[in-house]
Amino acid sequence: MKSLQDSVQFVKGVGPARLELLNRLGVKTVRDLLYLIPRGYEDRTQMTPIVKLRLGDRATIRARVVIAEKYRAKGGRPMARVEVEDDTGRLICTWFNARFFKEADFPAGRELILTGKVDFYKIPQMVSPQYEPADEGAALFGPRILPVYSLTEDLNQTGLRKVLKVAVEEYAPLLQEFHEAKFLSERNLPPLTEAIRQVHYPDSMEQAQRARRRLAYDEFFMLETGMALRRRSLRHEEYGIQFEISDAVDARIRRRFPFKLTGAQERVIGEIRQDMAAPVPMNRLLQGDVGCGKTVVALYGMLAAVANHYQAVIMAPTEILATQHYETLCRWLADSRVRIRLLVGGLPARERDETRAAIAAGEADIVVGTHALVEGDVQFKKLGLVVVDEQHKFGVLQRATLRQKGRQPDVLVMTATPIPRTLALTVFGDLDVSVIDEMPPGRQPVKSQWYPPAKLPAAHEFIRQRLTAGEQAFVVYPLVEESEALDLKAAVSSQEELQRKVFPEFRVGLLHGRMRSDEKDRIMMEFRAGRTHLLVSTVVIEVGIDVPNSTIMVVEHAERFGLAQLHQLRGRIGRGGKPAFFLLFAEPKSDDAKKRLQIICSTSDGFKVAEEDLKLRGPGEFFGTRQHGLPELRVADIIEDFRLLRVARRDAFDLVARDADLSAPEHAPLRARVEETFKDRLDLIHVG
Ligand code: ADP
Ligand code: MG
Repeated sequence: MKSLQDSVQFVKGVGPARLELLNRLGVKTVRDLLYLIPRGYEDRTQMTPIVKLRLGDRATIRARVVIAEKYRAKGGRPMARVEVEDDTGRLICTWFNARFFKEADFPAGRELILTGKVDFYKIPQMVSPQYEPADEGAALFGPRILPVYSLTEDLNQTGLRKVLKVAVEEYAPLLQEFHEAKFLSERNLPPLTEAIRQVHYPDSMEQAQRARRRLAYDEFFMLETGMALRRRSLRHEEYGIQFEISDAVDARIRRRFPFKLTGAQERVIGEIRQDMAAPVPMNRLLQGDVGCGKTVVALYGMLAAVANHYQAVIMAPTEILATQHYETLCRWLADSRVRIRLLVGGLPARERDETRAAIAAGEADIVVGTHALVEGDVQFKKLGLVVVDEQHKFGVLQRATLRQKGRQPDVLVMTATPIPRTLALTVFGDLDVSVIDEMPPGRQPVKSQWYPPAKLPAAHEFIRQRLTAGEQAFVVYPLVEESEALDLKAAVSSQEELQRKVFPEFRVGLLHGRMRSDEKDRIMMEFRAGRTHLLVSTVVIEVGIDVPNSTIMVVEHAERFGLAQLHQLRGRIGRGGKPAFFLLFAEPKSDDAKKRLQIICSTSDGFKVAEEDLKLRGPGEFFGTRQHGLPELRVADIIEDFRLLRVARRDAFDLVARDADLSAPEHAPLRARVEETFKDRLDLIHVG
């Protein structure tokens, strides 16, 4: 019996070699194969006569071989050249690096189907066109619209087309429809089997579009059904804590803040106050650009919990950041009775044990820490509020673990990776979303500019001026795992050189991720205290670090950073009310890299940066959906298909409202599909 769970090796045309290549694309079962969606199409219903070819067009022609030859280019590179003709003219095809080219495959007179971009050099040309013998191709596919798949090298288009032709014919009918016919026709969506057939071998481009729309809808629908189920189960959980935040408590908390809150901070605090007072556990995402002042909002919630005799915890992704939070809180709460504790991995064992004991005994009111909080066995006496800072740096499990250290505690997750609000509502469907969209007063927009590396000496001169004026600066190097040793060396030797040759009159520090954490802390403290003037660093300064006196950041090899990263880095400077400069040095090789640099220099609005980032990287990467325990989107595009997403969301929430556990008999196929999609992840779709 055939099944969609069959290994792809059972499909005709899949031998051991092709099996491995398919596996590399993540295709293991026949179902995976059917869901290998083409990235585009090639319209062979239209063969262009050679005489009608136009420069720059992508076209398909049918022509006979006149002569084929293999030769060596000047550098010794093997090249191939095939001249072809139809009844209207001649065309020359060229292949560079034609190592595997065999003249015998191109006997004079053989008819070929060739697809490629049209160029002209005396007569029409195509460079590296796709080709296949017309008899074979025509017999197989006929003059129709053919799929174009994204390939790994060696897996050729024609071969994959053949495999999919067979798979679609033999297996597509086995796909189990999970929507009712009426439901589909109301939304102008084709049945599943037809959609899979038409997405690979469409009868027309309209059909291909319609098929794609159905598959995109399905992805959204699954995503949103997961959200709806999760949200519903939350509402049914036992009651959370009802904190009492009287006006007196409110006033007492506010007296601790050394500045006047912005309107946006006020609004969000209002939302949190309401959530915390309500019986349903708070489950809120707070987003706001770097430097907008999220910490103080979190502190409000923590102090409200403490006023109610509960403990509060804030978890940050790095020790530096946790330490900084700890110090800020200690400063703001000096001379209060609130007991604050720091728990990070770098503590000496004895101190760590002692801190743990204090937390368990309820002798700590506010606990600040890193993932050390979720590793090992940290227990709270009475945990009421969990705050996760820079939530995207943590895995779903780490966040869930922290939450489970209390009984239905309120949860606030914070992120500086802004997501367009409507999208956030949709993608974090089970969270309430707050946004801080206003900067504290006195911020100067950071001037961002991009230069070739040759201009570095000029930047050094500029840095000298600012350092002389008493300001501070960063020089940032990339550090990635694959080339870690080399990257580290670059940063280390740059620090030496800057100190010795360029800025002997100043102190140049070095900070990188490979250092021991106490060492990192010491260096960061020195910089914050102004004892070091220039800090050479790898991206460990990325999140959260606050040094108001720093006004310049130079980023070397900026082409190697992602957009979000660059924006985060930029947020480190320009916090002190003086003009600030973000200077990027880069030699971008790819178009994407160029685009990233252009975007970052053209706007300082985090939401715009995020939107562009989303477009460049696609939603899967951007949201790290795997991390959220959400199904991956392969066909659907959150931006392009946003209207469809809204339809799917409404449908999914309606469905769950009517049949919360999908137990109605007519929902059986749908339920099976949902279970298959989420497996055991459904209870993890939570908290960002
Ligand atoms: P982020 O949202 O990036 O975590 P922080 O909470 O670290 O931002 O705040 C950035 C800086 O702005 C801090 O130095 C903080 O003390 C300051 N800040 C926050 N809110 C205000 C405000 N309302 N007025 C003035 N300064 C503020
Ligand atoms: Mg922060």
